[in-house]
Amino acid sequence: MRNENSDTRELNTILEGIGVSPGIAIGPAYIYTRRSHDIEDDRIDESLVDSELQRLDEAVARSERDLKKIASVAKEKLGEPSADIFHAQLDMLRDEEVLSAISKCVRRDQCNAAYAVWYVLEDYRKRLLASDSEYFQERASDIADIADRIIRHLRREKFFSKIHRESIVFAENLSAADIVLFSRRGILGCVTDFGGATSHVSIMARALGLPAVVSTHGATDKVREGDHVILDGLKGKVFVNPDQATIDKYLDRRARYERLVLEQRQLTHLPAETVDGQRISLAANLEFRTEVPQVQEFGADGIGLFRTEVLFLMEGRLQVSEEEQFEEYKSIVESVESGITTFRVLDLGGDKMLPVAHREHNPFLGWRGVRILLDKPELLRPQLRALLRASSFGQIRILVPMISDLKEIRDFKAVLGSVMEEMDEEGIPFDRDIKLGAMVEVPSVAIMADAFAAEVDFFSLGTNDLTQYVLAVDRGNDLVAERYHELHPAVLRMIKATVDAGQRKGIPVSLCGEMGSNSSFVPILVGLGLKEISASPVYIPSVKRLIRAISFEEAQQLADEVLCVDETKQVVELLERWLRDHPFDLTHFLGDELTPLAANEGNGTLAPASRAE
Ligand code: PEP
Ligand code: MG
Repeated sequence: MRNENSDTRELNTILEGIGVSPGIAIGPAYIYTRRSHDIEDDRIDESLVDSELQRLDEAVARSERDLKKIASVAKEKLGEPSADIFHAQLDMLRDEEVLSAISKCVRRDQCNAAYAVWYVLEDYRKRLLASDSEYFQERASDIADIADRIIRHLRREKFFSKIHRESIVFAENLSAADIVLFSRRGILGCVTDFGGATSHVSIMARALGLPAVVSTHGATDKVREGDHVILDGLKGKVFVNPDQATIDKYLDRRARYERLVLEQRQLTHLPAETVDGQRISLAANLEFRTEVPQVQEFGADGIGLFRTEVLFLMEGRLQVSEEEQFEEYKSIVESVESGITTFRVLDLGGDKMLPVAHREHNPFLGWRGVRILLDKPELLRPQLRALLRASSFGQIRILVPMISDLKEIRDFKAVLGSVMEEMDEEGIPFDRDIKLGAMVEVPSVAIMADAFAAEVDFFSLGTNDLTQYVLAVDRGNDLVAERYHELHPAVLRMIKATVDAGQRKGIPVSLCGEMGSNSSFVPILVGLGLKEISASPVYIPSVKRLIRAISFEEAQQLADEVLCVDETKQVVELLERWLRDHPFDLTHFLGDELTPLAANEGNGTLAPASRAE
């Protein structure tokens, strides 16, 4: 498989990125470059305006036909919800405001149609790109994709050169449409320079079961067509022209992974239960409606965290109407076959800023989560109404983010009570017994967990934020990334304090931070007494596999030991020793070495769970 020219090529280049879709692919590189268009601002003669507009109409109609076809392929391969990305692109393509701005540019300014398309859509794209939010940037790439499609049709260009089957595609960025079409051509996996865990390409890759690594900071510059490549979507690593020892290791690793997947598939319908009978509820963390089918697919017990802010960020506006929200929430609960759906109310602020929002110097300590909601009843009330209305169609819990003070939860309950009264007066049915929970992600809540437990029906530990606030380490800052460690004894003690308070007050405590997706951490979490864990769907099988292999009693002993030490290093040593004696976790299965505290190793090792911000 080694390329003829590979002798002249550098051996063993290792590229690091974010592994967003698990699996191991081995094959030749295919470099996909979207040729950039030379867009000339040539003006057309007035007499040609009508025929130019006619050409534009035809190109838009052809683009529409393409997108419908891609949507139907996506639907056929992945089901209806996955086709939504393309329906959203179709809506953008048909947007009257955009189309009339383009036509106006041709008619009034006599621009050629390609320039008019580029000019108008580039303006929209730039506005979205200017935002810090990954969701908006993703929206911007949808717009670039639409512009590209129309311009190619105007120029009657082909969309892809021939993609080799069984190759690993490298691209600066890929659109959701690209990846659906590439998957039809039998590619093995993909690697992109940009993108994050929640970008469309990542979601589609996961849904299609294609291993993928994104955010490699320039992989396309370092790889040449035909290079021999190993893509490790579990670790977020890409080996270019690896030596024989690495190839052998990875052939073994791939075989082990394939066995693991087969083995885990048998677990889908089995409960997450330790060998000595301790049942753990293992739910899914979701951000998009399109991911809901993964609850069944990966054998999750309902949805432990649905981040509703993503809907708002995707829409790019603060006012998503009650009706639109209701439709969204209703369709989600109706599609979840069993288990509860925990909707977290809007968690805006921090790194999830809408461009219209107020800029702050220190956003993670600023106007965030419940603080915004209580200040803006025009945001909170419609969302509560929509959630309550949806509660007639399935089992729902409401979760409040960024609680730090008792008054906030009491004020929140007062608003919820008043919305319920209003709905009663209007005769709108809802679940009167709906459960209300607080995120435990600010240390004040963990420290005063008893007092908070008296106010709510459940707790959900948000260890992504709890870690950053306990340790004063920004979760998105590369400079301090190695100081961000969820296994820090202070974080573990906060988890323990919360679990104990929940037990004393008789309320359930779940954990929905990324650490629940790391199967190596799970023995400690189970041992600390967590009975509900939620994780990204693709990691549920490995977490479930681990839970089913361990004994609760032994996990408790491990937790007791780690609670007695004072340094992260000691916690890691104890955990490592335990895992060595109990070789059930993913790391062992894949034959990896345990590399404590090594940054960016991704899921399945003792490294901090990586999270794309
Ligand atoms: C957390 O903080 O752990 C959490 C689950 O919420 P988010 O990652 O959305 O801040
Ligand atoms: Mg949080």
